[in-house]
Formats: sequence, structure tokens, C-alpha cells
Amino acid sequence: MQYLVRKIHHTTDEVFLDATKAKENETFVVVDAESKEEAKEKVKNMMQCTNCESWNTDTEYVYVDNEPILTLFQCYNCGFKDDWMFKEDDQ
Ligand SMILES: [Zn+2]
Repeated sequence: MQYLVRKIHHTTDEVFLDATKAKENETFVVVDAESKEEAKEKVKNMMQCTNCESWNTDTEYVYVDNEPILTLFQCYNCGFKDDWMFKEDDQ
């Protein structure tokens, strides 16, 4: 079961905690973004690590003549790396 715990640090040095339980079909993901739209777009393109199931991952595309040919996957959590030939439905 996954919980989202908000930790609110007030200027008075008091710390408040607030927990939200995820539903069966829900996953909480934290991303850095400039807007809600950008945040949603980032999460849409994110891939889960097949090794440790972390979402703290990064995917990069390798281009040749402006055509993506290779997808590079890296997990920042466990260090797992993978790469595979680019498929159209990767986008
Ligand atoms: Zn991993």
C-alpha cells in the first residue's frame, strides 16, 4: 500500500504531516516541472524500472539523421541500465 505524506515545514519551525492513502489503481509520482501540463507530460513519458520498480528513471533517445534508433534507459534508484532499438510506439 502506498501513501503520500505531505510534510509541511512552517516558518515557526513546526512540522505538520498529512497522509493520503493511494487507491488500488493509483500511484503517486513527484516530478520537477514548470507547470501542471509539463508535470503530466513528464509522468506520461516516464518508465518504471523493471528491476526495482522505481519511477526515479530517465530515458534518452539516440538519434541518427534525426531518426531515433535507440532508447537508453537508466534507473537512478538501483543503477539499472538498459537499451533497446527504437520502436514507433515508444513515443
Ligand atoms: Zn531500478
